[in-house]
Amino acid sequence: MRRFTLLLIFILSLTACGGKPASPSGTTAPVILTSTTFLADITRNVAGDRQTVVALLPIGSDPHSYQPTPQDVTKISQSKLLIINGADYEHFLEPLLQNAGGTQNVIEAAAGISLRKDAQGEADPHVWLDPNNVIVYVENIREALTHFDPDGAAVYQSNADAYVAELKSLDSWITEQVNQIPVEKRLLVTNHEAFGYFADRYGFTIAGTVIESFSSDASPSAQQMAALIDQIKSSGAPAIFLDASDNTTLAQQIADETNVRVITDLHLESLTDGAPAGAYIDMMKYNVTQIVNALK
Ligand SMILES: [Zn+2]
Repeated sequence: MRRFTLLLIFILSLTACGGKPASPSGTTAPVILTSTTFLADITRNVAGDRQTVVALLPIGSDPHSYQPTPQDVTKISQSKLLIINGADYEHFLEPLLQNAGGTQNVIEAAAGISLRKDAQGEADPHVWLDPNNVIVYVENIREALTHFDPDGAAVYQSNADAYVAELKSLDSWITEQVNQIPVEKRLLVTNHEAFGYFADRYGFTIAGTVIESFSSDASPSAQQMAALIDQIKSSGAPAIFLDASDNTTLAQQIADETNVRVITDLHLESLTDGAPAGAYIDMMKYNVTQIVNALK
């Protein structure tokens, strides 16, 4: 209940400069917009046929470094609800929301989740890589849809319940898969610090990152590269895991120095158009399969 109150305050604060909340009726247009493609899939699982859900970001784009277009402002201003990850993920949105007139209803899917922080106090936004956190997303999205379309309450509840059951079986499936790898071999080296929540949940150790940041939008120094090479050698980590949108050059240089493999096709921040990561659950299963195969 407290989360919903906070959510309402957030909505009201965004609509306070002259805008009105979108019509609460169950009209089919305008659409519900989400920032990322995986959020669109999660939202569709709750909304079912009652709403049209569209992702603002194209498939395959990196939300950390996304460059918005003028059409994005139009899409936002015409949407009735904008569902974002939150947790300091969508930096590209701040100017867009201002340009769109500040009248949007914005829902933070990650609201209420306790966030990992780095030494500087920056939040780690990659909450969705633990499916248990996506159960919280589903509840936030269900509350928001119900608020704007009360007639759909029963449909949203039953859709949410069914999807939460799928998320719980995804969590059990990941645990089973990961159990094929001894704990001491559960070592992840990644492009940027995306795997914290996943590692916490499934007993992995982050053996190193090419970019020491929660964002891919940064570059390492020569000293950081040298330190990472040492970390990989001393930990015995056998692979570097990259998102399909990541630049492979630095990881390949490090791999050449350390004789490890580079896995270049994880899907952490975007779905794919159809297989292998056409839906959030498929994306997680594909990533876990790649990780388990590389480490076992
Ligand atoms: Zn990221």
